[in-house]
Amino acid sequence: MKITIAGAGAMGCRFGAALTASGHDVRLLDGWEAHVAAINDYGLRVTDERGTRAVRMPAALFPAARFPATAGDVPPADLVIVFAKATATAAVAAAAAGAIGPATRVLTLQNGLGNIEALLPYVPRDRLLAGTTTLGTELVGPGHIRALGSGETVLGALASGSSAAQRIAADFSSAGLYARASADVMAVIWAKVAFNCVMNSLCTIASIPVSALARYPGFDDLAGTILAEVAAVAAAEGVRVDTGAALALMKAQFDPAASGNHLASTLQDLLNGRPTEIAHLNGAIASRAMARGLAAPANTLITQLVGLLEATHDRRVTSLRLPGRRSSSVMHGHEPDMCKASEGETLKGVKACPARPSPAMTGKTASRRYTRPATPLSSDTWCAAPRILMMPRTSSPRRS
Ligand code: NAD
Repeated sequence: MKITIAGAGAMGCRFGAALTASGHDVRLLDGWEAHVAAINDYGLRVTDERGTRAVRMPAALFPAARFPATAGDVPPADLVIVFAKATATAAVAAAAAGAIGPATRVLTLQNGLGNIEALLPYVPRDRLLAGTTTLGTELVGPGHIRALGSGETVLGALASGSSAAQRIAADFSSAGLYARASADVMAVIWAKVAFNCVMNSLCTIASIPVSALARYPGFDDLAGTILAEVAAVAAAEGVRVDTGAALALMKAQFDPAASGNHLASTLQDLLNGRPTEIAHLNGAIASRAMARGLAAPANTLITQLVGLLEATHDRRVTSLRLPGRRSSSVMHGHEPDMCKASEGETLKGVKACPARPSPAMTGKTASRRYTRPATPLSSDTWCAAPRILMMPRTSSPRRS
């Protein structure tokens, strides 16, 4: 099968590498120049539990209008997989339109709501497939991904009577990307949205790995409030969300052996200074609720809080050096600025400490008091953020 992957970041590369290795003719399209150059020069490096290997496949810069000198031509494919963040689906679909011929099927496995609507101007409904994946993948740097563990991909056609989903799921499974077809793909997508609306948002607001949610005794109530709003909007759109099953699935993730030490993608985006997909998660629930005359105050507030975190990213308080002590952990990798606060100061006193720019950071950060958690999180967890944050980000459309 000729497969074009539009938006070849962490997940696009993971699918591209597996499908190439199982004999498909895969082409990657992405707008990050250093990433595309590294893949073409050295192959895509894939690190997993077996080590690191290079997988050769062509990558091209797109959209062509932005890279007239270097963009490759984009011939029609049998399958186009859109794997940008939900915030970029429309732009990426427009840029990849040349790969969508009269027989091409288009598949989205992205998180969030709104991807299907963004793709429909570029492909008729009977050739559009959608779904979800629980595979986890990180971008280590240009041309290098880390494939995390195993997961399941579920996909289905939007138009009934199509057998394409079964065929594509079989191809994915043969490539080691365990997949199955679903006759009710909207229920699958909404179940994932419900999961993300709770887990991604709470972990982002609290700046914690998934497992830390287990320490909060009010988790069931908080998750239940968010889920009830999601389920009401889904019901208004003709989809049933099983809130009990959703809650059970979330709590199963608290186990460090499941995805307990994982950092939610929304938190990773925030820590990396990239736009999050919040508008397509809690934000979509809030706006769809409003359009239907429903109330969704929890999802509205969560959307606003994550918006606040995004808008204030470069002013985030990440550390405190108390007099006579070494600096605490620095989650953002910023040099801590010294705050001359005395050890007994209260939170009020913390606020009084001026947010002055550090000369070393040319005004990018300021410091506040920091109190270590009563029980420190695992060292794995504390190490995770700086490792991710080392990725270069400046010359890519990832910040746009
Ligand atoms: P990513 O940010 O790693 O990759 C997206 C790629 O799209 C980037 O390489 C970026 O350069 C490219 N891009 C974005 N806008 C572009 C534009 N206008 N023109 C050209 N290129 C553009 O994202 P990801 O982690 O691979 O996630 C993709 C989707 O899959 C998201 O919806 C995410 O929520 C979902 N998802 C991710 C994971 C995971 O573990 N990474 C797991 C499940 C689902």
